Amino acid sequence: MRKIVLLLMLTLLVTSWTGLYAASAAIAPRQDGLELNKVRWANHTEAITGAATLRLVMDVSGPVKASGVVIDAPTPRLVVTVKGTTPGTDITDLSFDGKIVEKVSFDVSGKDTTVTFDLPLKVETGDYKVFTLPSDPKANRPYRVVVDINKPLGLPDFSFTAGLKDKVIVIDPGHGGSDPGAIGPARYQEKTVTLAVAKNVQDLLEEAGAKVIMTRQDDRDVFGPGATDVEELNARSSVGNNRKADIFLSIHADSFTNPAAGGTTTYYYQKTLYDSMLAQALQTSLIEAGDLQDRGARTANFYVIKRTQMPAALVELAFISNPKEEKLLSSPGFQQKMSLGIVRGLERFFDQAAKLN
Ligand SMILES: [Zn+2]
Repeated sequence: MRKIVLLLMLTLLVTSWTGLYAASAAIAPRQDGLELNKVRWANHTEAITGAATLRLVMDVSGPVKASGVVIDAPTPRLVVTVKGTTPGTDITDLSFDGKIVEKVSFDVSGKDTTVTFDLPLKVETGDYKVFTLPSDPKANRPYRVVVDINKPLGLPDFSFTAGLKDKVIVIDPGHGGSDPGAIGPARYQEKTVTLAVAKNVQDLLEEAGAKVIMTRQDDRDVFGPGATDVEELNARSSVGNNRKADIFLSIHADSFTNPAAGGTTTYYYQKTLYDSMLAQALQTSLIEAGDLQDRGARTANFYVIKRTQMPAALVELAFISNPKEEKLLSSPGFQQKMSLGIVRGLERFFDQAAKLN
């Protein structure tokens, strides 16, 4: 980063004096440095509508400008820039319950403080406000920056009970029909292992009293042959959305150009309060079951986990591009182990989620 700034400065130096002045000012010690020296917050619930708002108030040592921008990917965030300030030494990151905000962190970017709000769901422009208040010496109030964030409306209020009995679970075996998915060095196909594991999981869940909806039962395309990717993925997420499922789970195998890459990963998109909890529970149980490299529960923008209304996860069982793991993926013993891992992960999730009620 420093190198780029220096290069830019050199360019400016030879091109214009105005540029040189601006660039020098950027690295000169700041004389007007204001400090963000205290942070307070409060939750407010509207008595009639029940609309909830989180208000964060930051005291600053002088008048400032502040603005916010919403970032969608990889996870929803509101980033507020407080111009010409640095966070005071007492300012630390804050954790919240995740109903409106999960975490607030403070950073320095150039001459400004950036305050990042990690959100459970993307907020629209009308759902947050960033504004400043002047100092009020009579009331002993300093200059302030205020951030209001509304709890997103229309968020289905999920609540879960423990156990698998009577749960409605959509299982989506990745790929199928005209789309083989990834193919291993010994020509084993991703669509074959995803269906085998999905069917095992279906049997185990039904034995435990859950209701299972499969996006496909055999080797075929879910939308139909010749569909576009979006049509195909939309057909899969609609299965869950139209049947009011509790959980949507997509099963895949990973692939990479380097055949040495291996391990198990679970992906989620945090659009309800439960997506990361679901992914973490599945990942923990899959590592216990399969004992492959733990690549963690990670966020991603994949269509099926983003467009499903209920908590969803996408598991990558192992790397089909890794000769050792391809062999495992094709073996019924390993398929059954991973299927059990998925079922235990779902059970773990419902037990944890029930405690949030
Ligand atoms: Zn896949």
